[in-house]
Amino acid sequence: MSSKPKAPSSRLDSDLTDAELATLAIRAGHQRTPEGEHSEPIFPTSSFVFHSAAQAAARFGGDEDGNIYSRFTNPTVRLFEQRIAAMEEGERAVATSSGMAAILSLGMGLLSQGDHIVCSYSVFGSTVSLFTKYFSKAGIRTTFVDPSDLDAWRGALEPDTKLLFLETPSNPLAEIADIRAISEIAHQHGALLAVDNCFCTPALQKPLLLGADIVIHSATKFLDGQGRCIGGVVIGPDALMEEVFGFVRTGGTCLSPFNAWVFIKGLETLELRLKAQSAQAMELAQWLQQQPQIERVHYSGLDTHPQHQLAAQQQSAFGAVLAFEVKGGQEQAWSVIDGTRMISITGNLGDTKTTITHPATTTHGRLSDDERAQAGIKDNLIRVSVGLEALDDIRSDLQRGLAAL
Ligand SMILES: *Cc1c(COP(=O)(O)O)cnc(C)c1O
Repeated sequence: MSSKPKAPSSRLDSDLTDAELATLAIRAGHQRTPEGEHSEPIFPTSSFVFHSAAQAAARFGGDEDGNIYSRFTNPTVRLFEQRIAAMEEGERAVATSSGMAAILSLGMGLLSQGDHIVCSYSVFGSTVSLFTKYFSKAGIRTTFVDPSDLDAWRGALEPDTKLLFLETPSNPLAEIADIRAISEIAHQHGALLAVDNCFCTPALQKPLLLGADIVIHSATKFLDGQGRCIGGVVIGPDALMEEVFGFVRTGGTCLSPFNAWVFIKGLETLELRLKAQSAQAMELAQWLQQQPQIERVHYSGLDTHPQHQLAAQQQSAFGAVLAFEVKGGQEQAWSVIDGTRMISITGNLGDTKTTITHPATTTHGRLSDDERAQAGIKDNLIRVSVGLEALDDIRSDLQRGLAAL
């Protein structure tokens, strides 16, 4: 056994079994090193050294657990994985270099040539491209369905359907998919349900407790929450995650330790941020609904939203992202965006800074006109991800934008 001093802290590790989300977000996964550091350490190292050639052989041969190379495992990345797995109430997490790398690694780890995916049509634009342009090259086909139409999900199943994939609430129109009902459809067919939980995060919605098998995240968004790093993660049962991990360590879609460390610190304030940003988004959605220049507001917190009840059941708040259609077309939408002064014009979301974007010409610009029409993304649509600036200042800035019309 090693003669190193014992870390002063592991006393807390065993006490976290019944801990609530806010506690897990701050404490889960940290096993102190013998230095006794209070804040989580960062291990920016590409490889790890061995005491002897025999130990190196044992590690490489799998006879001894431990780090070898940071494409396989890294202590900072592992801490992030353990913390987010605890927060989503999943068995195991595998961190990836981006949200897209999470979805790629999920597909490469779990699917084979000839397999079929049923996917909600209102998922992130790059997810659609990944499935239609690249998974198709590997002989994996995808059928897209209306996320809120359960008969469409059932009707799209084929003998080779292995995976159902959805995002709820959807981006940018806040359509809600019934996770429990769709997980039952998947399981009756012997397929898996994966949920991209980017917009709610475990602070507002835990898909695994509603029957989903797998959760994926773009950590780039709310998990970081301050717009600093790109990263992702896949969470689910150990046996499935072992396959995803196998692809990540071989294909190299791994997360950097520095980015993992930023996400660890982001998770600590996740619940506080999501609750506060959701409350501000709700107030803004109600206010926007009353403005004469606006035709329609898309936000699942509004009781006029067609799936408001379902959102209220499966989420603990309605999230920070809303969208609205102005009277007119692209020219009017661009005028509103350009008329704001403080809000950042950027495609990113989930930040403490409020952001504004015109989906039809940015995030969803690469879709064909047909695909965009099917996804309901009109030229007069504007998306806002509500941050943590004072509500009055955000409202005044949007008011300034609307006054440009
Ligand atoms: C941004 C985003 C992704 C992709 O994540 P990256 O980190 O940019 O690769 C996937 N899904 C959703 C819902 C997103 O918003």
